[in-house]
Amino acid sequence: MELLKEYIRKYGVVRPGNILKVDSFLNHQMDIALLNRIGEEFKNIFADKKITKILTIEASGIGIACIVAQYFNVPVVFAKKSESLNLDGDLYTSKCFSFTKNREYTALVSKKYILPDDNILLIDDFLANGRAMLALIDIVNQSKAKIAGAGIVIEKGFQEGGKLVRDAGVQLESLVVIDSMSDSDLVFRE
Ligand code: 5GP
Repeated sequence: MELLKEYIRKYGVVRPGNILKVDSFLNHQMDIALLNRIGEEFKNIFADKKITKILTIEASGIGIACIVAQYFNVPVVFAKKSESLNLDGDLYTSKCFSFTKNREYTALVSKKYILPDDNILLIDDFLANGRAMLALIDIVNQSKAKIAGAGIVIEKGFQEGGKLVRDAGVQLESLVVIDSMSDSDLVFRE
């Protein structure tokens, strides 16, 4: 997606530890015009799938998923990352290691929001080592719902997440894939 590449080239900042900061347009301040284009793009990619629900993970996936969901006209469910007094009843859980926070957490989704006849589109901002996506895949598999695919805004192709998600049998569609990045250079996959 050329527009997204332009934003990353213009506003993205590479931080030590293979972190790309895109705070100014994607996951702190959010550029809604760009997010709408992202929503359209995912709608085109997954047009032939009868998506019933979008599943993402807090926090940075939520805003993106909500905009994408408007193009599919379906609800968004987000996995929570910790026990909350608001969460009652039965939960699907999956342990997960956070790439950016460098710690383990449990992803939680209430069983009443993913049903066996759902066809779920997974959405997230980044794919790095794939742990967040694998936790979402695990949760959907527990629920016996189907996974229509996974839509990622930025995949860091030099980390293992892409391979792990594809090996799990999920159709992975990333709007841009970064093959390498450093302070002075950022290479997109063509
Ligand atoms: P993974 O589970 O694939 O290792 O990491 C994915 C999660 O970590 C995403 O939900 C995203 O929020 C965060 N993340 C991974 N890499 C980056 C990055 O380079 N920049 C930012 N801003 N977040 C990242």
